[in-house]
Amino acid sequence: MLANSGYAEIEELSRVIPSKERLAKGAVAIAECLQSIPCNPCNSACKRGAFLAFKDINDLPTVDVERCNGCGLCVSACPGLAIFVVDESFNETEALIKLPYEFLPLPIEGKDVPALDRKGEIVGTARVVKVQNTKTMDRTPVIWIAVPKAMSMIVRNIRP
Ligand code: SF4
Ligand code: SF4
Repeated sequence: MLANSGYAEIEELSRVIPSKERLAKGAVAIAECLQSIPCNPCNSACKRGAFLAFKDINDLPTVDVERCNGCGLCVSACPGLAIFVVDESFNETEALIKLPYEFLPLPIEGKDVPALDRKGEIVGTARVVKVQNTKTMDRTPVIWIAVPKAMSMIVRNIRP
């Protein structure tokens, strides 16, 4: 449980994980943000209005998955590194995950790297598809990785 261990169990994420049908349609943001804190950059980062308006700065974010196109702008905007984009339509066998990454060195595009779960344990291998690191990302690069489809809700980090 997040409050005790520092990482979220999959059961705690049922509120934020899109339906299987929506996931199959293509890229969508998943805000794994479960603690009420005064924070809302995700809301202003999304140009499509896909984050529902906060009534209070402490509200938990909610993504309107029908408005979200998986662009990933919110991923680097989140100071909690809590937002991921998952695209289960990436290809026949793999899902694409866009994740925030603040370590150096940055991974290298095209390389295979260890894939980590939310606990930081190695659960398989990921292929680095793209490294996005622009000035507007303000030192939170976004790494695109390909993983087996069955791992799309398990892998949430990498080790370069
Ligand atoms: S991925 Fe893009 S469209 Fe979706 S919530 Fe984030 S900023 Fe909005
Ligand atoms: S920016 Fe990140 S940490 Fe802040 S409310 Fe949004 S999802 Fe949660």
